[in-house]
Amino acid sequence: PADEGLRAGPLVTPPPATATGQPMIAIDRVSKWYGEFRVLTDCSTSVARGEVVVVCGPSGSGKSTLIKCVNALEPFQEGQITVDGTRVKERGTNLPKLRARVGMVFQHFELFPHLSITDNLTIAQRKVLGRPGAEARKRGLDLLDRVGLSAHAQKYPGQLSGGQQQRVAIARALAMNPVVMLFDEPTSALDPEMVGEVLDVMVELARDGMTMMVVTHEMGFARKVADRVIFMDRGEIVEDATKDAFFGQPRSERAQQFLSKIL
Ligand code: ADP
Ligand code: MG
Repeated sequence: PADEGLRAGPLVTPPPATATGQPMIAIDRVSKWYGEFRVLTDCSTSVARGEVVVVCGPSGSGKSTLIKCVNALEPFQEGQITVDGTRVKERGTNLPKLRARVGMVFQHFELFPHLSITDNLTIAQRKVLGRPGAEARKRGLDLLDRVGLSAHAQKYPGQLSGGQQQRVAIARALAMNPVVMLFDEPTSALDPEMVGEVLDVMVELARDGMTMMVVTHEMGFARKVADRVIFMDRGEIVEDATKDAFFGQPRSERAQQFLSKIL
């Protein structure tokens, strides 16, 4: 059945610039422990408005933990993270409101299996943002059309391929008008032939000016759209470089070894 592919034209209109030009995401000396185990050590970086930062590194190096800290899905003991001027770790920060502004797409498409695609696209808009049903539906279906899946609105997630589900998950996140999108290995659970259709949507988003932090080992994607690449190892940000510097000549031996294995 109809899978029209990505439509032409912008997926999102970038949010208006802040007056101060402050980074969209500022991660400042963040450390985190699970009990005795130090999972993040003194991590600092920032992501400017409209910037695309790819995060890579060996399994277990803390990539997922770091991006989960950005939308407060994981607490951290030391340091601070600021998203669009809002401190993540502060008494009085409204976490549901913060999370609504930070879109997140995981490795396993976490659509609600018992809800139709349309309901998946509208439920958070209605419940979290309080949007009227008709408006939420219009926004959801418009984005579904933009990712080429308008023919599937009445179906359930289980009736769609993995690649299609992941495109719905991206549309669902975008329906909330996030200021930032976080991706955690969004294509690594997909059959190889479906990776491209998901990356295409992400490339389009990047080109539309969305601020993105993307954990991925898809170095083709990184070369195409990343502004910077962060390399993590054992809970540390070992390398934080422009794309050209990173692919040209990573400074650290650990990053060089990692690249030589995956390229
Ligand atoms: P990555 O995404 O780079 O593979 P993670 O952030 O998932 O790494 O994990 C970093 C480290 O933290 C790993 O050693 C992992 O086993 C450990 N870890 C992750 N989640 C937990 C948890 N809930 N409790 C204890 N240790 C954890
Ligand atoms: Mg991970």
